[in-house]
Amino acid sequence: MQVKILGSAAGGGFPQWNCACSNCARLRAGNFHGHARSQAQVAVRATGRPWCLVNASPDLRTQILSDPQFQPERAPRDSPIAAVVLTSADVDQVIGLLHLREFQPLRISATSAIQQILREENSVFRALEQTQRQAEWETIRPGVRHDLKSPDGASLGLTIEPVSLGGILPGYAGKSGGSDDAVVGLFIEANQRRFFFAPSLPRIEERWLDEWDRCEAILIDGTFWSDDELVRTRGEGKTAREMGHIPISGAGGTLEALAKLKRTRRIFYHINNTNSILDEDSAEHLHVTAAGWEIARDGMEIQL
Ligand SMILES: [Zn+2]
Repeated sequence: MQVKILGSAAGGGFPQWNCACSNCARLRAGNFHGHARSQAQVAVRATGRPWCLVNASPDLRTQILSDPQFQPERAPRDSPIAAVVLTSADVDQVIGLLHLREFQPLRISATSAIQQILREENSVFRALEQTQRQAEWETIRPGVRHDLKSPDGASLGLTIEPVSLGGILPGYAGKSGGSDDAVVGLFIEANQRRFFFAPSLPRIEERWLDEWDRCEAILIDGTFWSDDELVRTRGEGKTAREMGHIPISGAGGTLEALAKLKRTRRIFYHINNTNSILDEDSAEHLHVTAAGWEIARDGMEIQL
């Protein structure tokens, strides 16, 4: 199985256009030891099969154009990208679907809650369904294994198992509560290899830990270093936990909660521009890497 990290930042990317936090300001000024990042985006495929995108970032067009493996070759409208799986209806996970609207046959897998927001409440996504040979939607359910297919029904050799991560709907959906399939994590499996994917991790259940440690890798929420990071930067707003992200540090943070994991390759993904782990000279960066974690970067490839 081949996993490509095309983008690794949280919403806004790094630097973020309207942000003058210490990281963004120093990156612009050229005195930051670290890397710019586009918004979180992963592509995965079983060996020798077409690609499946995991979510669809606002930076997707540029991310596709920048990689020779995603270019059409044999005919017009012949992308090697055959499918998309969505883990939430968050703007930063779905807006890239609109980049894929060019009459491209695609199979899009998402839970009922996510499909309701995109297909029933936001008419702009009907741009994906202007002809019959465009998007084909498939419903996935937490706890139920699902084989991914290309639009013509051929197997992609990839199996997913969604895990319910709670009911926080995106702010634009205009509802406070949702069903338990509003946000999911995914076990993704191919060629007898398995990894776990969750760009947003609002909670951790003890029983998941053994399962994660049996995976070849986990690619999980590294959005914020501390719970009050955005409040301190902006002077207002929500805590990390209120936004559905367990912070990396502190009591109950991901570093502490996942300290038991020994075998699996652990990668922080979906990193906000305010997060001090982006600064490779920072104590926080050194702390995370010394604890055995990797920090996702654009262009990183994982062969599992
Ligand atoms: Zn910033």
